[in-house]
Parts: sequence; structure tokens; C-alpha cells
Amino acid sequence: MLDAIIVGSGINGLSAAALMGSKGKKTLVLEQADAFGGAIRTQEVTLPGFYHDLFATNLSLFAGGGVMAALKSELIAHGLEFVPSSKPYCSVFPDGKMIGVVMDRNQTELNIAAVAPQDVQAWKLLTAKLGVLAPHLFPLLGAELPSVAAVKILIRAWRVLGTSQLLDLVRMLLQSSRAFTDEHFQSPEMKALAATWGMHLDYGPDISGGALFSFLESIGGQEFGMVLGKGGAKVLVDALCAVINTQGGELRSNTRVEEILIENGRAVGVRTSTGEIIKARAVIANVNPALMPNLLAGKEVSGTENAPEIEKLKDFRPGLATMMIHLAMDQLPQWVNEDARSFNYVHIAPYVDEMALTYAHAAAGKLPTNPTLVIGQPTVSDPSRAPEGKHILWIQVRVLPLEITGDSAGSIDGKTWDEIAEVYADRIINNLESYAPGIKSHILARKVLSPSDLERYNPNLIKGDSLGGSHHPAQFFFLRPMPQWIRHRTPIKNLYLCGSGTWPGGGVGGGSGLMVAKLLS
Ligand SMILES: Cc1cc2nc3c(=O)[nH]c(=O)nc-3n(C[C@H](O)[C@H](O)[C@H](O)COP(=O)(O)OP(=O)(O)OC[C@H]3O[C@@H](n4cnc5c(N)ncnc54)[C@H](O)[C@@H]3O)c2cc1C
Repeated sequence: MLDAIIVGSGINGLSAAALMGSKGKKTLVLEQADAFGGAIRTQEVTLPGFYHDLFATNLSLFAGGGVMAALKSELIAHGLEFVPSSKPYCSVFPDGKMIGVVMDRNQTELNIAAVAPQDVQAWKLLTAKLGVLAPHLFPLLGAELPSVAAVKILIRAWRVLGTSQLLDLVRMLLQSSRAFTDEHFQSPEMKALAATWGMHLDYGPDISGGALFSFLESIGGQEFGMVLGKGGAKVLVDALCAVINTQGGELRSNTRVEEILIENGRAVGVRTSTGEIIKARAVIANVNPALMPNLLAGKEVSGTENAPEIEKLKDFRPGLATMMIHLAMDQLPQWVNEDARSFNYVHIAPYVDEMALTYAHAAAGKLPTNPTLVIGQPTVSDPSRAPEGKHILWIQVRVLPLEITGDSAGSIDGKTWDEIAEVYADRIINNLESYAPGIKSHILARKVLSPSDLERYNPNLIKGDSLGGSHHPAQFFFLRPMPQWIRHRTPIKNLYLCGSGTWPGGGVGGGSGLMVAKLLS
């Protein structure tokens, strides 16, 4: 008898399987797609020899997380190789200015001083603040919420930091990116540099809760750099799958689970789309919580004390959508400020007010005129992803409507992504021209993945939400995904939830897979 069936082979499902396997548990991973890894996938989607990370690229969360710590030697033995970057990101601005954040603190301060000398001191203070808070924040991100362990971490933090510093942290957790950056910086450039990280998640500058990400990610880049997978992020997926196979676990692609089988209030197995019934002692769903009602449709869940409120999960809200534009290039973009060519990520927001407009337009269903762009230049640190002398580039567009009702610029008609994805991608490339003149003439081939394409690859990315559910405060921390479904347990015995829709949320850290594996090992 299998110890667990894992529905979905995202980073959390694979992490759970590998960790359980390391404790001698027998698992079976069932994946509906033709490849494992969910939102981690590397593929030659433009030209032969150009290996694009279709979705996630930055593996820093995994490299510094608990799954890596637990399985490091096995993963490395099965091919996992990271490429670190000490030049993680920069922001470029319409007037040609640029601020780059590098792992050398002095150099970062010089870079800031060149554009915003009045903000160097604030940056130094925030760097020091991360040093003080990190020993309390990072353990919290790795703890079940709510839990006794989390309370202990908070008590320890209170003892070390004192009441006022702890309340200061709580205040930051509730702040918007705009409030946070206004409080610390004076220049529009530094405010934008930090607030753009909120846009990576679903925090427009005026959404409460965005400050934490603006703080952690902007300063964290300087402190920890960025980590990519050698040859593509897929190297991580391949290593995890190889570890699972070596342990005697099994993985099946092209196998969609239609139903989670419940008997006497307990999960006992699954039914696949071909009608196959597979039994196990437990079921772990690496599935967006909003999709769980489909897998549990019509279930009478008896014998549980609390009503399961399965239908309630349909209220779990997606974050705004994303588009990915993948380019095969004959050279790196000729950024107006050529230093930008050496960074892994180039951010174009450009300023906080534009981010706010973009967010408001997208939330109201309008295609943004000048959306925030995250441009990935992975070949800067990993040339193996393209033929010699050539490059790949991806452009992540933040943020886009879940349902299109119109165009803020008034020039694009069409209400579905299948109709307008290419023409909207043209707008994005045109916007880039003023930051990197001539970029169009260096594109050898392109592949546009619209929000609808994202969902076709991976149903967890509902309407193109890259986060597997909004991270706004009402769905985050101890409320993720819903009050009745917290701590990776469910109202149904032997049914567990992991994935970015559960705490600690999106990203390739594998944290929720680790937490579920602990529950079952
Ligand atoms: C475009 C994009 C860029 C990103 N960039 C980064 C980045 O650089 N760094 C970072 O840390 N994070 C990034 N993220 C976020 C990160 O990739 C995801 O949060 C994370 O990979 C999600 O992992 P997961 O465990 O939730 O599972 P998922 O990746 O959602 O995978 C779940 C799997 O379950 C399968 N599945 C669902 N239902 C069923 C079913 N009924 N039967 C069988 N299989 C099923 C799906 O097909 C999927 O393969 C990005 C995401 C996107 C979309």
C-alpha cells in the first residue's frame, strides 16, 4: 500500500515526495502535464539551443531553504548545480539613470550615491535592520502558522528586540510599499527600486502588506545575491525526480486526477481521468485551493467535527495575471546605461505612481499602457543556456487583468488573451525600445506565453495568476488559504494540502512540501 499519493508535481509536491522517500515512505506523484515541475520548466521554445525557463528562474528560495538543507547531498549527486550571481538586479529609468544592487555593500552604496545620494544612509539603515530582523523573520517563514513553534519564535523575538521594535515590525507587515518607501527614501528612483519588488507579488504600491516584500527582496538581493539553475531551472526538477526514483518512489506524467476518494470522512485514494482507482494511506494535493472543490465535488464528508466548507475554497482569490515573453537574441539589449547588461534582472516600473496606475488598471480589467517589466538576462551568469555568443531574455509583465474589459491606451480591441497576446507583446517590446534602443533588431525569435497559456500549462495558475492565489493579507500568513484549511491539514482526515496556495505561499522554496512531509513522516 502506498503511503501517499501526491496530486501534482510542483516544487512542493516533489519536495514532499523526496522528503518522505528519505524516511522510507512510499509515494506516487501524479502529474496532469507532459512534464514534471509545474511552474518550473525549461524548454527550447524559440530556437534549437536556446533553453528558456518558461516560468520561474530565480531558485534562491530553494537554495536557502529547508528542503535543500535536508537533501543537499542527494540532490547534488543527482545533478543539481546552481549558478550564483552577485549582481542580482537593477532598476533603469526613462532618463537613462540606473541603480544596480550588487552583493558588495560598498559598491551598492556607490551605485545609489550616483543617482540618489540623499538615500544612501537610509539604505544602510535598512541593511542593518534586515540583519537584526532576519534571525526572527526567516524561522517564522519556516514554521507552521499558527503553531506553538511560531508563538515561541515571536516570544524569542520580543525578548531580543523589545516591545517597540517588535511593534515596528508588525507596523511594517501592515504597511504598503508606498508608505514604506516614502518613509525611508526621498528619491523617486529609490522608492521605485524597492516598491517594484512588491509588484513581483500582487502588491501594487498602495496595497497593505507590500512593505515586507519591498524590504526583504530589495535588501535581500544585496545580502544573498541570486541563484539560478545551471542550464535552466529544470535541473532542480530533474534532480528531485531522480532522488524520488532512487528511493523507490514513482512519478507519472500525463495523469490527471479527477477525484479524491473519500470513505468515512477519510481520503483513501484518487480516481484518474482514465478511471483508474489508486489507493493510498494519505493524499497530498499540490493543487490550487480554489480547484479543490472540483476534486471533492459532491463529497459528503461525515465524521468530522467541523463542516468542511469545501465550496468556500472557491472564494480563494487569484492574484492579478502575468505574461511571459521569451526571446532568443543575437546579443544582450543595448541598455541606455550599459551597466544594466551585467545584471540578472532589470526592472522597469518606472516610478511608484506608474506602478499604482498599472495595478489599478489591471484590477479594473484594463490592459496597462506601461506595465511594470521584469527582464531576466539569465545568460549573463549562465551562458550555457544559449549557443555561443547568443542570449536568451525573458520579460515578465506585471500586472495584467484576470478578465480583459478594455485597453487603458485605447488601441487594442479584443477581450481574450488568445486574440490579443501577440499585439500586446508588441506594445511591451515597443516600450522597451526607449530603454534599450534597437532591441527589436536583435530578436531572433520570440514565444509569448499569455496568462491563458500559463493556465493551460498548469491549471494552478488560475487565469494567469503566477502566485497560485493572491498574497494579500486576508489570504496570507495564518489565513492561507482559508481559516478552515490552515496548517496544510484539511477538514478531511488523511487529506493534506501543499503548494503556493498554502503557507508560506508562492515561490520555489518547497516550504509547504517540507511541512507536509513532516506531518506524514
Ligand atoms: C511566470 C512565473 C515566474 C515565476 N518566477 C519565479 C521565480 O523566479 N522564483 C520563484 O521563487 N518563484 C517564481 N514563480 C513562482 C513559483 O514558480 C511558484 O510559486 C511555484 O513553482 C509553485 O509551486 P507549487 O508547489 O505550488 O506547484 P505548481 O508549480 O503549481 O505545480 C503543481 C502541479 O500540479 C499539477 N496539477 C494540478 N492539478 C492536478 C490534477 N488534478 N491532477 C494532476 N496534476 C495536477 C499541475 O499541472 C502542476 O504541474 C514564478 C511563477 C510563474 C508562473
